[in-house]
Amino acid sequence: MLKKRQILCDGVKLLLLGMRLKTAQRWVKDDWKKSKPVDEKTEILFMLEELGEFAEMIRKTEGHKNRKELKVDLEKELGDLLICLATLANRHGVDLEQAFLKCKKKIENRHKQGF
Ligand SMILES: [Mg+2]
Repeated sequence: MLKKRQILCDGVKLLLLGMRLKTAQRWVKDDWKKSKPVDEKTEILFMLEELGEFAEMIRKTEGHKNRKELKVDLEKELGDLLICLATLANRHGVDLEQAFLKCKKKIENRHKQGF
């Protein structure tokens, strides 16, 4: 578990530096090669764990932290989630930038047609 934490923290640092999604996804792929392989179920559980941490952060900090502190904490948890998402995308050979762009186009077309 400690290794996973280190991977996630390093990934968050890279994402916060403004790395392109495609580059970040490739970094995740290369970095995971250094770790003991895990199965897809475990990767999904990691992602759900991180989503739970994000939800817990929102629940526990509502009204108790200033907005700047909350933003830093939320960035960390969302960074963790991005790393998990990149891991799952890599498993299935999905390019996250292309997936995002296709989804963006779908939403833009939906807006053109009106809701
Ligand atoms: Mg986390």
